[in-house]
Amino acid sequence: MQCSSPPKSNPGPARMPCYQCGEAADRACTSCERFFCRFHGGERQVAVHVGGGLFGGLRWEYPVRALCDRCTPDQSKVKAHAAAMGILSIAVLIFLIIMGIWFMTEYAKWRH
Ligand SMILES: [Zn+2]
Ligand SMILES: [Zn+2]
Repeated sequence: MQCSSPPKSNPGPARMPCYQCGEAADRACTSCERFFCRFHGGERQVAVHVGGGLFGGLRWEYPVRALCDRCTPDQSKVKAHAAAMGILSIAVLIFLIIMGIWFMTEYAKWRH
């Protein structure tokens, strides 16, 4: 009988205490580097302005990062921001299409 289940070792680095409650923390904040337990931090979405380019002002990204509660932005605001920027970029796209159509029709008129 072959029983080769991998040993359930859980070495890892020495557990650091959570910055808030002192419980064993399993990760560190990517912003302030404080250690936090699963109750006082986690995978949180942030809004990052990446900018640049023709429509640089509209370029935002919403990566998920390991953050403690203190560094976590208001998640509902991040989601609202993401939705607003989504609508805005669609509006810009529609505007460009309309401008394109307008330009094509004007150009066709002008050619006659
Ligand atoms: Zn904690
Ligand atoms: Zn933090």
